[in-house]
Amino acid sequence: MRELREHELVIVGGGAAGLTAGIYAVRYGLDLVLLSIGAPGGQTATASTIENFPGFPDGITGAELIMRLTQQAEKFGVVFENAEVKEIRPDGERWRLVCGNVDYLCMATILAVGASPRRLKIPGERDLFGRGVSYCATCDGFFYRGQTVAVIGGGNTAVEEALYLADIAEKVYLIHRRDELRAEQIIADRAFENEKIEFIWNTVATEILGDDSVTGLKLHNRKTEEDFQIDVDGVFVAIGYEPNTGFLGDLLELEDGFIVTDERMCTSQPGIFACGDVRNTPLRQVSTAVGDAAIAADSAYRYVSERR
Ligand code: NAP
Repeated sequence: MRELREHELVIVGGGAAGLTAGIYAVRYGLDLVLLSIGAPGGQTATASTIENFPGFPDGITGAELIMRLTQQAEKFGVVFENAEVKEIRPDGERWRLVCGNVDYLCMATILAVGASPRRLKIPGERDLFGRGVSYCATCDGFFYRGQTVAVIGGGNTAVEEALYLADIAEKVYLIHRRDELRAEQIIADRAFENEKIEFIWNTVATEILGDDSVTGLKLHNRKTEEDFQIDVDGVFVAIGYEPNTGFLGDLLELEDGFIVTDERMCTSQPGIFACGDVRNTPLRQVSTAVGDAAIAADSAYRYVSERR
């Protein structure tokens, strides 16, 4: 027999957006639960240093920021439960969130489920995951002291991971498919000045090599059409993120997989709101996620108040 739990609001996701939505919504007096898979954290928790979140002139680690947000949410009475939402379906005038052994019935839900690292989808990536292939330098960089690693990607994440790894590893290759970084200039300049970082331009990885653990990378230069190989002990993939919207089916309007919202964070379904990296926002930052989340909580509060 499935257990049924009823709340006015269910927040799905324990990253910066979900935690902020929780802080705002609980202070509005909503009866709510915040669902997350494992401990709160999301992408923010994996960031080595966040330098552009207002109010922290010396930067703050992602883990520290998440810890503070969690403490703040707990202080105001947000209840956390571990659950993975498998499906959302209408149930009369309410929404039913189908999880493992429990269903949650709610008037409103805020989806703050974020995005997951994009995969390269090349041979060796899946087999060597956790044995030299990683999507998080802050989590796994420690293992590569004095070794050689490669970071793949050209955005802020890739360059920041390369800089972080350069403090630990002996050498860092940064492999980018074009000859120009997507990363912000201030971050890129730091990497250009770092002697441990060697850029390999116009190049894509075609295979990650190794039996028990990573030993090398097969590469292809897209300009010269040259195929070549480098020896590395670790490969950090940082080629962007894909939204965690697979569980929604065709319930909501999506754009490239991201949830479409209006400026009140309303989705295409009444009572379902979205915020943070999972929505079709022009900028995926902690600062924009927490702003979205405050609006989503306010919209959910108004929606619930009208139906109480
Ligand atoms: P991103 O900005 O989308 O960059 C992804 C990078 O990976 C791009 O350089 C892209 O190449 C490359 N790429 C994509 N698919 C690839 C593939 N299949 N093979 C090889 N390369 C591939 O992702 P991100 O760096 O993770 O950043 C995500 C968001 O978070 C951005 O808005 C970013 O500004 C933000 N962020 C901000 C900070 C900060 O402000 N400190 C730190 C981290 C992230 P192309 O350039 O050729 O498209």
